Amino acid sequence: MSKTGSLLTHLECVACGKRYSKEELHTVCQDENCQAVLSAQYDFVSNTLTQGDLRQRSATMWRYREFLPVGDAENIVTLGEGLTPVIPLTCFSEITGCCRVFYKDESLNPTCSFKARGLSVAISRAKELGVREAVIPTAGNAGGALAAYSAKAGVKAHIYMPKQTPNAFKTEVRMFGAELWEIDGSISDCGQFSKREAVKHGWFDVSTLKEPYRLEGKKTMGYEIAEQFDWELPDVILYPTGGGTGLIGIWKAFDELEQLGWIGAKRPRMTAVQSDSCNGIHLAFRNNKSSSTFKDNGFTIANGLRVPKPYADKLILKILYDSRGNSVSVHDMDILRALREIALSAGSFWSPEGAALWHAFKVLRQSEWIADGETVLLLNTGSGYKYLDNLFPT
Ligand SMILES: *Cc1c(COP(=O)(O)O)cnc(C)c1O
Ligand SMILES: [Zn+2]
Repeated sequence: MSKTGSLLTHLECVACGKRYSKEELHTVCQDENCQAVLSAQYDFVSNTLTQGDLRQRSATMWRYREFLPVGDAENIVTLGEGLTPVIPLTCFSEITGCCRVFYKDESLNPTCSFKARGLSVAISRAKELGVREAVIPTAGNAGGALAAYSAKAGVKAHIYMPKQTPNAFKTEVRMFGAELWEIDGSISDCGQFSKREAVKHGWFDVSTLKEPYRLEGKKTMGYEIAEQFDWELPDVILYPTGGGTGLIGIWKAFDELEQLGWIGAKRPRMTAVQSDSCNGIHLAFRNNKSSSTFKDNGFTIANGLRVPKPYADKLILKILYDSRGNSVSVHDMDILRALREIALSAGSFWSPEGAALWHAFKVLRQSEWIADGETVLLLNTGSGYKYLDNLFPT
């Protein structure tokens, strides 16, 4: 068996610090009163990989395999995810002024969203630790990614998705042979069902941040951002926040890169962008709160942003405060308008979640919170092509 050189040592609870062995399957902290997120820890001191070595590596996120949790290379379940391009957004110079604005196009991942990163790692680890069946509550993209990686790994996937999800997401998971349950309600309702069924049947629950390795996959966005910006991080990163895995993952990556000595202490101002439909993080941030409350105003065309109460709300908010970041909540009409603007002028069909960032950028630029000369990165997390049922041309 060929080793990956993974420097993974153990898992650690982000709240109480309790340690867990990497040899066993884990979900969240087992302490009854804690149940916080578990975070993978690595022996960075022993690292011998250099930034220059990366040039010889594959053009996927597995180029950072030392800092990913999979031990044996043959357990890696890959469809070629990661190393998505960073593209300058040059067509709106009257709006961007002398800011340098870029987007990272995550729609080019397998199954057309950044969810591929998390589920590639989660399913690789699940395979490594002997999982046969997995279950997920999803707004769409996570279900598609779980179904695809499960198909390749020979794992049976069970998927709980809101009924009000565009058809492409439903067809996709069925095509990959997963079992699909359509639920009347939001992802929170799906979570209730999936949790119950997971316990009943002994399925492995890969819900956002209730499983430690999706975060490891998503953190590779942070490694790539650093590498693609030549180890000088942007001033501002805008992130469409549902459960917040990407935001937390990118932040974790920056911390790890500093431990490696590959970047300095400077951090981007991390900004959470939400839909008016579910803007609990935005409201909490405005009110200087350390946790969010359940908030669901119903349907949004940005399905991935309909997360009424993120499991890791405290972590998300802490990052916004620690990075001197910000939050913006966007109405569906503005998301749709932004999506059209990007399509018309940039020739790219963004997911509604990603398009919300373009509107948020304009708001933050207008208020001068984003200053002249700053470098800004928007994470277009997925493809608009799966959302056709939500969109109508004018
Ligand atoms: C899931 C999803 C999000 C939200 O991601 P989180 O990590 O849950 O915050 C944003 N955009 C798209 C396209 C998604 O599929
Ligand atoms: Zn704990």
